[in-house]
Amino acid sequence: MLSAVNAQGEYAVLAGPEAKQLAIRLKAIPHFCPQCRGPVLVKAGNINIPHFAHVSSSCNSFSEPESPRHLAGKADLFQWISKTAKASMEARLPEGRQRPDILTGNIAVEFQCSTISAALFKGRTENYTKRGITPFWIYGGKPIERKGKYIKLTSFQRLFLRYRFPLGFYLLSYCPELKGFTIYEQIIPVTPTLCTAERRFIHIKNMSFPPDAVIKGKHSFSLNDFFDEKRKWLDRQLYFQNNCQHPFFKEIYAAGRNPYLLPEQIGLPVRSSMAIRSHPAEWQFYVWAEWPKRSAAETVRRRIKLGHVKEQPLPLASGRTAEMAANEYETLLQMMGNIRSTDSTSMVDKLHNEASFIQKFGETVVNRLIF
Ligand SMILES: [Zn+2]
Repeated sequence: MLSAVNAQGEYAVLAGPEAKQLAIRLKAIPHFCPQCRGPVLVKAGNINIPHFAHVSSSCNSFSEPESPRHLAGKADLFQWISKTAKASMEARLPEGRQRPDILTGNIAVEFQCSTISAALFKGRTENYTKRGITPFWIYGGKPIERKGKYIKLTSFQRLFLRYRFPLGFYLLSYCPELKGFTIYEQIIPVTPTLCTAERRFIHIKNMSFPPDAVIKGKHSFSLNDFFDEKRKWLDRQLYFQNNCQHPFFKEIYAAGRNPYLLPEQIGLPVRSSMAIRSHPAEWQFYVWAEWPKRSAAETVRRRIKLGHVKEQPLPLASGRTAEMAANEYETLLQMMGNIRSTDSTSMVDKLHNEASFIQKFGETVVNRLIF
């Protein structure tokens, strides 16, 4: 923790360039936890940044030990916000145990480094919203993995995704070592693990609070690459998994079809694809199989319940739902009008059909992704 009170109830916050000198001065004065009133010690060593630590660990407001990264990030973010707004470190909310890292106005800043469950993330978010406080989550975990021209987002990292026009899905992360933010924007899933994204680094000195949405130029999404990645995804599924058990492949084989030769319109990217963790080929295949008996949204919800399709919780973009993705897909199909819906006869035929699909509908599909 970076804040504590003395016997007179005066607050001390260890952040900023003078934090170390302050910490050394405060060492001789007894300090207490603002929450549990238990005694705390000043720690001002050479490894971690100066901070306070409970003498005994019976406090349930602070989960200690906090990682050096969390402490450093919190100190930086506090300094950053304090330049333009009034901020309280580790603020105490009128009721309940939830204690934001930093509170400024009705914004609760949470610099989250350690992985927490989707349920806990969602619970904390709702707790703030209920009180009229806007949670501002900043990702502080391990760097986002890059794979070629794509990024790989873990389930935990996906919880931080927000949606805003015209950025599309975006994610804000802060790195205390680099003293800067990395913004990933226009994030579009290509497979259940890979996404395309535009990436920007902004030094904390050059970032405003609250951050502005910067409108970027055209994104570089390619439907051709998307189709290639779909093929590779199929390769991996069929190689690593016992595909007879997988309901998607089971249904395809039962119908005497080949997963590589399905019509191009089964497995297209749509704006809210992020809300579904399964590949679009899977859930769109089910949509086709059940059409017109069920609407796309009904099919997707039913398949989620059956465990055939995996939903991605998006607590910070709750307007973007699996049903919305299904509806977008339905609209896209309507826009494309009557198109061939028979399978290709061979891989050569398939590649040819894909090329003519991209030529005819590529722009329609890609232009509807974000803008
Ligand atoms: Zn305490």
